[in-house]
Amino acid sequence: MSNHNRVIQVAVPRPLHSVYDYSVPTDMPLPSVGCRVHVPFGRTTTLGICVNNEVANPHSRLKPIQALVDAENSEPAVSAELLDLAKWMSAYYHHPLGEVLATVLPAAARRGAEFAITPADSWQVSKTEYANPRAPRQQQLLDFLMTNPHCTGADIIAAGFSRALLNKLVDLSVVVRSDPLAAADAKESHLPASAEQKLAIEQISHALGRFQTLLLEGVTGSGKTEIYLQSIANVLTQGGQALVLVPEIALTPQTLARFQRRFPKTGMLHSALTDNERLQTWLKSRQGDFDIILGTRSAIFTPCKNLRLIIVDEEHDSSYKQQDGLRYSARDLAAKRAQALSIPLLLGSATPSLESLYNAKRGRYQHLRLLNRAGGAQMPDYHVIDMRNENVLHGLSHQLINVIRRHLDAAGQVLIYLNRRGFAPTLLCQSCGWQSHCSDCDAKLTLHQSPPQMICHHCNLRFPVPQQCDNCGHTALLPIGLGTQRAEESARQLFKDTPVYRIDRDTTRSNKQLNAQLEQINRGEPCVLVGTQMLAKGHHFPNVTLVAVINADAGLLSPDFRAPERTAQLIVQVAGRAGRADRPGEVWIQSYQPDNPLLTTLIESGYSGFANAELASRETAQLPPTTPMALIRAESENPQLAKNFLLRCKVQSESLGMETDISIMGPVPAPIGRMAKRHRFQLMLIATRRSALHHCLKALNQTSAPSKLRWSIDVDPYDAM
Ligand code: ADP
Ligand code: ZN
Ligand code: ZN
Repeated sequence: MSNHNRVIQVAVPRPLHSVYDYSVPTDMPLPSVGCRVHVPFGRTTTLGICVNNEVANPHSRLKPIQALVDAENSEPAVSAELLDLAKWMSAYYHHPLGEVLATVLPAAARRGAEFAITPADSWQVSKTEYANPRAPRQQQLLDFLMTNPHCTGADIIAAGFSRALLNKLVDLSVVVRSDPLAAADAKESHLPASAEQKLAIEQISHALGRFQTLLLEGVTGSGKTEIYLQSIANVLTQGGQALVLVPEIALTPQTLARFQRRFPKTGMLHSALTDNERLQTWLKSRQGDFDIILGTRSAIFTPCKNLRLIIVDEEHDSSYKQQDGLRYSARDLAAKRAQALSIPLLLGSATPSLESLYNAKRGRYQHLRLLNRAGGAQMPDYHVIDMRNENVLHGLSHQLINVIRRHLDAAGQVLIYLNRRGFAPTLLCQSCGWQSHCSDCDAKLTLHQSPPQMICHHCNLRFPVPQQCDNCGHTALLPIGLGTQRAEESARQLFKDTPVYRIDRDTTRSNKQLNAQLEQINRGEPCVLVGTQMLAKGHHFPNVTLVAVINADAGLLSPDFRAPERTAQLIVQVAGRAGRADRPGEVWIQSYQPDNPLLTTLIESGYSGFANAELASRETAQLPPTTPMALIRAESENPQLAKNFLLRCKVQSESLGMETDISIMGPVPAPIGRMAKRHRFQLMLIATRRSALHHCLKALNQTSAPSKLRWSIDVDPYDAM
């Protein structure tokens, strides 16, 4: 064989250059494209992916690959479909292909783990006629397994039998492994769909077999999940699989259980699994054992044997955008994947992103709407409290306190929403105005209680609570503003004898804790719930009749261009937790800017009206989604280094002569100018055309950076902060 047939291109997980040529020793089979190979790299060895095995490289001194990880004739680790997706991501996000592939593969696969499905520890009787009168215990175990098929080894031991006895019967082939997936039956059937739901299910079913994105906009509680479930049923009858993405915070055991009751062969992928558990689910999806994969952001990379439908629930959710490293959007990748596979993508939300609404308006997405709540529940009424002439007690206005009393007296539950953890966001010197700051960030410290400490919400550093002012030595330090801990304390003082529950990241570290709290709350006795956005997502509180939004102003005034959209989504989502058929809900919003047009539009015209107005103002301001954007961020302990680097980027892009297509703003300090000791700057690129933006980013990606500088390109940034 000539040398030219024995050279392959390998993508390695390293920054900058990502594909390298290697020769394949004559005693080794030529790896297929997508296979994992061990290659020498620098002074070490690394695992790479063969991305091309027909390379013409006449160079005779190429390093040889060391070993194949995926055996000859076995399925490559990265399928052709996912390799194409990775190549597209590498070009679109301007990120090295080797690092993209490292993100696409589960961690265990990246480390070279063998692709073997661990057999389930689940057992059944295979020879019912077997009888051994001299071994009565054997007979007892057989009887036990007959009445409890698909029992696990642990169940068998718990019932008083030994492993040895089980092994004996297995050796005799009287007992064999069973497949709990194959055996499980659906425990629940579909609900009779409403007319609105039926229409949506039909439209989705029409789209099966071709690429079409459908945007399902339905108010909270309108029965979107029921539509997902019934659409998935249509896919399964055709022998297909469905991939369902949900926000990080919403993937709870309850969510999984809801799917598994209808479809037992549902697998779950999320960050709390061990690497091996993730790999197992990945393998079972790849070989078609699971019908449905339910997962968070990175589940978009799950290989599927016969994928026919992708669903992204709460498609506006920020957790779909990875905010560091490879800054991809799982929602956008879902569209790419659906297109490549010629299958439909269903995006669902009560508060769709402006990106998706814009696509729906341009006719690129099919817009499906659910205007009514399932089961006839009504939408809540909105009220705004003008805080400018209110007496405030513990952060709550008198008017709000009265409304809360009224609801509690009527045996309703009350939800107080505010997006700040801790006791108070600032500790202020009453004498000179000094505020307690983080040593490593340009940020104020948040006062926390139990235990009392100051915490930086940006870098997580903790400090003792100062006893006196750093500036003037005065001891009168005053907590300013309201956090969830303080709101909880206020509620306890104001509404004595009423249980108060606080739900935020500090009180609710585990799912178990959250479940216990939810169970308690959903017994229905009057209570006050205080919480952050953890409360706004996923959970239903049928007995909540009042939702109070404490500080909507912060979001409306933020310099981030996405802040109004995010705030409106949160208000509508948290409002959607309230009320059911027999108990309509009310939403009261405290604001020092009750005439803010964003707020009044939201209240008068609902989310759709708000979104239309906001979309128009984004268009005028030439911001996404109407105009493509990228951010270049640079950070360093030396501020000049970061700033100069971005200046160089700016000069370089200006030298491309694309002034008519691209405007560059900055470098400016990031809104939090220093974080964890590093100074942060950013450069914003806005383009008239996407192709121009990519041309420019591609040129910038070649810029060499000093070693003490971290920098990144963020295409379609979610967070401009
Ligand atoms: P969403 O996902 O839009 O928030 P869900 O699918 O969770 O809404 O539905 C909200 C509630 O309404 C659930 O308790 C669900 O069981 C119920 N529901 C949904 N569809 C129907 C239906 N067709 N008939 C009766 N109840 C329904
Ligand atoms: Zn002072
Ligand atoms: Zn800090």
